[in-house]
Amino acid sequence: MKRPIYNFSAGPAVLPKPVLAQVQEELPDWHDSGMSILEMSHRGKEYSGIIAQAEADLRELLAIPDNYRVLFLQGGASLQFAMVPLNLLASGRAAYVETGVWSRKASAEARRLGGNIDIVASNAEHRDHAVPVQEQWQLQGEYRYCHYADNETIDGIEFDFIPNLGSVPLVADVSSNILSKPLDVSRFGLLYAGAQKNIGPAGLTLVIVRDDLLGRAGAQLPTMLDYAVHAKEHSMYNTPPTFAIYVAGLVFRWVLEQGGLAAMAERNARKARLLYDAIDQSGGFYRNDVAPRNRSRMNVPFFLHDAALDAAFLREAGEWGLLQLKGHRLLGGMRASLYNAMPETGVQALVDFLGDFARRHG
Ligand code: PMP
Repeated sequence: MKRPIYNFSAGPAVLPKPVLAQVQEELPDWHDSGMSILEMSHRGKEYSGIIAQAEADLRELLAIPDNYRVLFLQGGASLQFAMVPLNLLASGRAAYVETGVWSRKASAEARRLGGNIDIVASNAEHRDHAVPVQEQWQLQGEYRYCHYADNETIDGIEFDFIPNLGSVPLVADVSSNILSKPLDVSRFGLLYAGAQKNIGPAGLTLVIVRDDLLGRAGAQLPTMLDYAVHAKEHSMYNTPPTFAIYVAGLVFRWVLEQGGLAAMAERNARKARLLYDAIDQSGGFYRNDVAPRNRSRMNVPFFLHDAALDAAFLREAGEWGLLQLKGHRLLGGMRASLYNAMPETGVQALVDFLGDFARRHG
């Protein structure tokens, strides 16, 4: 019997099978409109309904308060590294927390744009692969915002707390763990996420921003980079990524049907435990270096005790139907991403393979 295929890509990543089936079915003719979703005006009545429903479902999933705006943008999470300081740091200082590759890219971009930023905490000096506890952060004075990456997709490091900085707005990159668990949006000034992990196709970037943070940009800001413009125009200032938003809407629906974010959180916790246990109990054959309290539930980097086995591991994994396990080029080793659409059977298949491979090569 042919083994089922499981895709552990960090992104673009696995999507729910029922969503792919629905996309396929609806693609030539969306709901008897006579048009494909790919052919519709973004200002027509059909599409207006699609984007409104996607936003409504997202608002329901995350219980987004009324004083927050949902923006469907482009440019990836990487453009948010620039849009955040351009919109929120026309004057004053910002705090940045560095816990891995992505948060360091964000702070580097803010600095490049001339932003006055303080790195208030960093794990770069330590080899502990952890999020510095808030008591150790070195905050000096008032900040326009504090930026951090809630889940470091490459390093496999996830925050185990929401920072509390009083009235300083929190800005979080939630690209790789949004919708993986309930999140209290009201604790944040702004959240952003590239879609290509837990939301849908690449090409869409989601921003959730509190009303009072709009309109703080300097005068020179290009129109397309201004949150206030996108908010005022309901993500229709220009042509939005229509297909990606449609698929994201189907994914939001699917998550709701699965029981919402509480159900996702339970399932994701079980999946992560299964894999970390297998790594920890492999007698050193496999290794994950992240501090237990900050081990990412979404991205699990791991190393074989002997890197000379990496090529054989990846080849044999592929033969088992376990795809895209190669680690990020900066870290090497392996990485298994366990986003919402990865079923528990997929993680079990990976764990079975880990055991089998270790027995044969140990
Ligand atoms: N932040 C995080 C946490 C990411 O994982 C990624 C992409 N993997 C990015 C930012 C950059 O996203 P994009 O490729 O959409 O620009």
